[in-house]
Amino acid sequence: MVITFHEKFAQYDLGEGHPFRGDRFVNVMKFFKEQDLLDLSTVTLVEPQPASRKDLLRVHQESYVDLIFRLAEENTPYDVETPTSKRILEAALLIAGGAITCGESIYNGKAKRGISLGGGYHHAGRDYGGGFCLFNDVAILVEYLRVKYDLTRFLILDYDVHFGNGTSDIYYGDPTVLYISVHQDPRTIYPGTGFAWQIGEGKGEGYNVNVPLPPGTSDGTYLYALNEVFVPLAEEFEPEIIIANGGSDPHFADILGSLRLTVKGFFNLSCTIRKTANKVCDGKLILMPASGYNPKVLPLCWYALAAGVVGLEEIRVEDPSEPPKEQPSCRKQVENTIGELTRLLKKKWACFQ
Ligand SMILES: [Zn+2]
Repeated sequence: MVITFHEKFAQYDLGEGHPFRGDRFVNVMKFFKEQDLLDLSTVTLVEPQPASRKDLLRVHQESYVDLIFRLAEENTPYDVETPTSKRILEAALLIAGGAITCGESIYNGKAKRGISLGGGYHHAGRDYGGGFCLFNDVAILVEYLRVKYDLTRFLILDYDVHFGNGTSDIYYGDPTVLYISVHQDPRTIYPGTGFAWQIGEGKGEGYNVNVPLPPGTSDGTYLYALNEVFVPLAEEFEPEIIIANGGSDPHFADILGSLRLTVKGFFNLSCTIRKTANKVCDGKLILMPASGYNPKVLPLCWYALAAGVVGLEEIRVEDPSEPPKEQPSCRKQVENTIGELTRLLKKKWACFQ
């Protein structure tokens, strides 16, 4: 497994008091070292090159790319919560380059799986940014693999607590990318969209699958949703690669999200993704864990995710405090949502019939 990391990722620091802090990358690497993850013979660390303008333009409109470069030069924020600067831009390009390097490593036969550390800026669309995101490195990776290796079937599993509106918008009409997002009910969190009825359009109808979860949803119900939706769809779609996007913001102690995953829950989530990739696409998998807004639990969750991807049988890391219990109504609501998805998607997918 390859992990892409560069010291300059730390420049993706959105300023004092901002929940997106640049020290996350170094803290995570330190924790990985303490847990001996980097000593495993199967793990290789690679320093990426920055993504090129050409890489960006496969996804983003030229005028948007020019705008971001100009704002960065002037130190002007893109919006109130998404600042730019030369340092942030440099880090954003290196992080996107990390995703490309993961893809390269897999298709060069150097690795089966990859972790693009700090990757997954899913709120950026073709011609807009926002939600701490400038360039959509998930789509940049997809389009790179499409051009370079002729891939035609991608599955993106977005398990970030927020709906990945940017990634969803980019592929809303595209049947070559099955986008599945498991996130907190958009009526209660940014960006306010990502409802079950948003299933894609035109040729892409049925290829955008949203699983909104009520605040308070914990491990059991989360994994239930994953097994009811992600696993059967992956088996039926048979992607060539799975790209999994999300950091620690579904954790119960996160300050922005209200889902209630535990560290163990993240490990089980990641093991489910790895096992599914083994079944459907010869193990090809790239994890992009960008998010997380409680610095105490972020390294623990990213470690749990990485450990599941690398194939550890168990982890010894535990939550720093007792997780709150899930309300019984959560499971009922999720069952109803899956019922709704079944009705909406049964024409398209045999697994929902
Ligand atoms: Zn998020």
